[in-house]
Amino acid sequence: MRGVLTDIIPFSVNDGPGIRTSVFFKGCPLRCRWCHNPETQSAGPQAMVLQSRCIHCGACAACPSGARGKAGEYFASRCTGCGLCASLCPAEACRISGMALTPEETLARILPDKPFFRGRGGVTLTGGEPLLQPEFARALSSLLRQRGIGVVVETCGFAPWEDLAALLPYVSRFLFDWKLTDPEQHRFWTGADNGLIRENLKKLHESGADIVLRCPIIPGVNDTPAHFDGIARLTKELPRLIQVDILPYHALGNDKRAQLGLDADGFRAPDEETARRWQNELQELCGVPVLL
Ligand code: SF4
Ligand code: SF4
Ligand code: SF4
Repeated sequence: MRGVLTDIIPFSVNDGPGIRTSVFFKGCPLRCRWCHNPETQSAGPQAMVLQSRCIHCGACAACPSGARGKAGEYFASRCTGCGLCASLCPAEACRISGMALTPEETLARILPDKPFFRGRGGVTLTGGEPLLQPEFARALSSLLRQRGIGVVVETCGFAPWEDLAALLPYVSRFLFDWKLTDPEQHRFWTGADNGLIRENLKKLHESGADIVLRCPIIPGVNDTPAHFDGIARLTKELPRLIQVDILPYHALGNDKRAQLGLDADGFRAPDEETARRWQNELQELCGVPVLL
C-alpha cells in the first residue's frame, strides 16, 4: 500500500500541541477558493513550474501530454505527472508534487524527528485531506502509535463517517475545519455543502474525541455576523470542544497557484488589528477559548 504525499515537514508549531512533523496528504474532496495548499487538491502527482527560474531552453516541450510549450509555458490541465519535464529541466524550474510512499517508508522519514516531540508533540496528518486515503492514514497512524508517537489529524470533515471512526483508536486530537455555516454559501465557496461535515462533527463529538474547531476567516467570504453566530452556536451545541482556532486568510497559496498554472485567488489578507477584532468578537460569543 502506498500513500501519495506532497511533503513531510518537521518542526511545525501550528498544527497541534508541541513540536510536530506535518505529513501533507495529496487529494482533497473540496475546492476552497482561498486554498493555501492548492497543490494538495488533485490526488495524483503533477508538475509545478517556477517561471522565475526558467531559462526557456525548450527541453520540457518533449512532454508526452502536450502540457509544456517551447518557451517553458505550462498548460497544467494536461499534465499527467509523468515526471519527464522535471528530469529534463537544466534550471531546476520544474518539480513534481506528489510522492508515493508506503506507511513504513513514511515512518522512516519521520523517526529522526522523534527526539524533538518530547512527549507533547508528535505527528499531524494534514493536506489536502488525509481521509481521502483512509487505509494509508490508518496504517501510518497505527505504526506511529506503536512507536509511542501521538497522532493529530486535520480534516475538512467531508468523508464517510466509517473512515473517520476507524481512526479513533489511533488519534489523540482532531483539528476539524469549519468554513461556512450556511450550506449554500459553503457549496458556493468550497464546492460542497456542509451537511455531511456537520453530521461528522456531531458524531465525532459524541464519540468523546478531543476536537479543536479550525475556522479559516476570509475577508468578504465568512467574516460575517451570521457565520460568527454559527460558530458560537456550534461551541454551545458541542460543549466538549477544546477551543476554536481562527485561521485568518493569508496569500501564501498564490505562489503555488502560479506554479500550477493557476490565476491568483483574488483575496486580500486582513491586517493584524482586524484579525484581533475577529478573535475578540468570537470570544464574546463562544463558550470555549478562541485562539489566533
Ligand atoms: S510531468 Fe511534465 S512532462 Fe509529464 S505530463 Fe506533466 S508537464 Fe508533461
Ligand atoms: S526545461 Fe526548464 S528551463 Fe527549459 S523551458 Fe522547460 S522549464 Fe524552462
Ligand atoms: S479543505 Fe483545505 S486543502 Fe482542501 S481545498 Fe479546502 S483549504 Fe484546500
